[in-house]
Amino acid sequence: MEHYKLLRERMVERDIKPRGIEDEKVIEALLNVPREKFVPAHLRDFAYEDRPLSIGRGQTISQPYMVALMTQLLELTGNERVLEIGTGSGYQTAILSYILKNGEVFSIEYDEVLGERAKQILKELGFSNVSIKIGDGYFGWEEKAPFDGIIITCATPEIPPPLIEQLKEGGRIVAPVGDLRWAQSLIKVTKVDGRLISEDHGGCVFVPMRGEVEK
Ligand code: SAH
Repeated sequence: MEHYKLLRERMVERDIKPRGIEDEKVIEALLNVPREKFVPAHLRDFAYEDRPLSIGRGQTISQPYMVALMTQLLELTGNERVLEIGTGSGYQTAILSYILKNGEVFSIEYDEVLGERAKQILKELGFSNVSIKIGDGYFGWEEKAPFDGIIITCATPEIPPPLIEQLKEGGRIVAPVGDLRWAQSLIKVTKVDGRLISEDHGGCVFVPMRGEVEK
């Protein structure tokens, strides 16, 4: 078997399934998306360890378990329109793209270098239902709204109001929320009858959101 495919299988058995990830679509995506292509060449040997890795520009690719958990919380069936804030390496984008066989992913990245790089890799690997734009994700992507799901992969003191507005009735937002640099809570918000129902899914650590939210 191909070397990396074996590493992916081991990762899923060791770090993903035993920790409560049961969504078959998420597992299938983790088994098929080549994470090694989204990390810098000198870190490829570590691509299937369950930890974040530096992707340059002061940013990180999230650990596989966190990607799996956040994706599972979005409860995707495959035909949704999902907005991601913080494209970074593009790995989470690829996982979403893989699951959304009849849907679409929209992703916003603040850092132009990272955004352009992710765009290129995703294109090379054939993830075609993906649109990436460079900008401040705080404001969402009005022209493409509304979304069934929104995933924020940078820490924010509160969920930006424009994102709540761009969420469909019944839709889900998953985000690391909190004021601290090294500790946030993974929050899932569901819009039910125009109201927001919030659940806390435990501690997490993400790089801070930049732009409008810092003002
Ligand atoms: N999902 C990414 C995680 C990247 S880390 C992955 O799988 O690799 C978080 C990313 O959020 C960084 O690339 C950072 O540049 C980006 N970011 C920070 N503030 C942002 C903002 N206001 N809008 C969009 N992206 C932002």
